[in-house]
Amino acid sequence: MSRPEEAHLVEIFWSAQGEGLFVGASTVFIRFGGCDLRCSWCDSPETWRVGSECRIETEAGSQAFASLPNPVSLNAIVESIDALKPQDGSFVSLTGGEPLLQPAMALAVASASQERGLRTHLETHGLAVDALDTVLPAVDLVAMDWKLTTEVRPSADSPLKMTDFEGRHRAFLSQAASQTEVCVKVVLTPKTADEELNRVFRAINEIAPETPLILQPVTPTGGVKKPVAPARLMDILRLSEARVKNVRLIPQTHKMYGAL
Ligand code: SF4
Repeated sequence: MSRPEEAHLVEIFWSAQGEGLFVGASTVFIRFGGCDLRCSWCDSPETWRVGSECRIETEAGSQAFASLPNPVSLNAIVESIDALKPQDGSFVSLTGGEPLLQPAMALAVASASQERGLRTHLETHGLAVDALDTVLPAVDLVAMDWKLTTEVRPSADSPLKMTDFEGRHRAFLSQAASQTEVCVKVVLTPKTADEELNRVFRAINEIAPETPLILQPVTPTGGVKKPVAPARLMDILRLSEARVKNVRLIPQTHKMYGAL
């Protein structure tokens, strides 16, 4: 286990946000190592386990990287953010892996980022309800996944149970929406069923009806070999807009410019 002033990271880099509500926004990404889920479409399986080194982009957009041994100190993380020269009001994304597996350091990095005039964006699987409390005071936007269990399972060593996902997502959304801005993201695959989506719509309407819902068509990778048919995507958008107030269909964009 890392001490509270150190984090196990995969990488720190600058790019445009590739997903969700602030797609296209200039962002420094802090990618935490370790994840307790196994999503069949995961595009970053190298984050599932903590590695011995973290790669750090040395100049924004250069794709030139130095490396530091894990765990990385808070000072080194802050220096790495500063070296990427983020503009005032741009974003720092706490992503992974799952950043809420290291909540004390996620809070420390988020707090230091806010002190620098940056906005903090927590990208999470939306299941770590207890850890969320720790980090929320320094988070400006929570982008929580709503995992549909047709394509997601816990890792072999995780205490998470698929039968608990919906209850945890509900509690997570309630907690996040009571304290900060939040959006929900659902990854759509060819297996996504209307009944699964109906349960998400119901939860949003019961808990925080103004919450933006981002429908993200899967980018085929890992165990998902095919995209969702365009006609099916349009059907899902029509179904969704009839059930929730604020819905957008947004594919991943970062694949276009070579980011992870
Ligand atoms: S939660 Fe994220 S990092 Fe973890 S398996 Fe799913 S997509 Fe990959």
